[in-house]
Amino acid sequence: MRITVWNEYLHERTEEAVRKIYPEGIHNCIKDFLEKNGFSDVRTATLDEPEHGLTQEVLDNTDVLFWWGHMRHHMVSDEVVQRVYERVQDGMGLIVLHSGHESKLFKKLMGTNSGQLRWRECGETEIMWNIRPDHPILQGIGANVVIPHEETYGELFHIPDPDELLMISWFSGGEVFRSAMTFHRGSGRIFYFKPGHETYPIYYMPEVQKILCNAVKWAYNPDAPKIKFGYCPEPPVSEL
Ligand code: ZN
Repeated sequence: MRITVWNEYLHERTEEAVRKIYPEGIHNCIKDFLEKNGFSDVRTATLDEPEHGLTQEVLDNTDVLFWWGHMRHHMVSDEVVQRVYERVQDGMGLIVLHSGHESKLFKKLMGTNSGQLRWRECGETEIMWNIRPDHPILQGIGANVVIPHEETYGELFHIPDPDELLMISWFSGGEVFRSAMTFHRGSGRIFYFKPGHETYPIYYMPEVQKILCNAVKWAYNPDAPKIKFGYCPEPPVSEL
């Protein structure tokens, strides 16, 4: 299973508080825990690399892609977005994290130009309630996951209805939010996971790591069929 972790990689270089939490960048933190959990083929890619590190060759050799972006969505080239979008349709799994909800890629896949939500940054407690304990992504997760301090996201989250709603978050300020969801686009399996604001050490939490490792396995779809569309010269049943 070949995994690529993409990060815009800005805050960790420009803000001391973030650098302290993620000295090697969020992408390398994710890469590290994936490797510790037995995923041996993990690479990273960042915005500043040529083609944002997401060449056709890299994508062709990626089974599951992670996406973390926040302030530089607008700097991601439309050409690369289209390339990733098509690769998802062909069966590459995609895990969109936190503020990736506003990335060009996620909005394009959702079919919305908004992806907007309500937010507040004051370190409130988030309780993520597990409403699908049967789902493979939530195996090993209890009734809830408590994140002591996190950025608040609140409804209304302007997206189409998900295929599966796995977790609902409550925040100590009162908001609720659909914080773990799946979507299918073409042959691609997409998981949106809300936690991961850069100023809190959320990707070090064992439960968060467990969910993301499960999500990689769920999104992996190496045998996605090549579907043929268009003109069909012969009817499938000719004897009727
Ligand atoms: Zn954030």
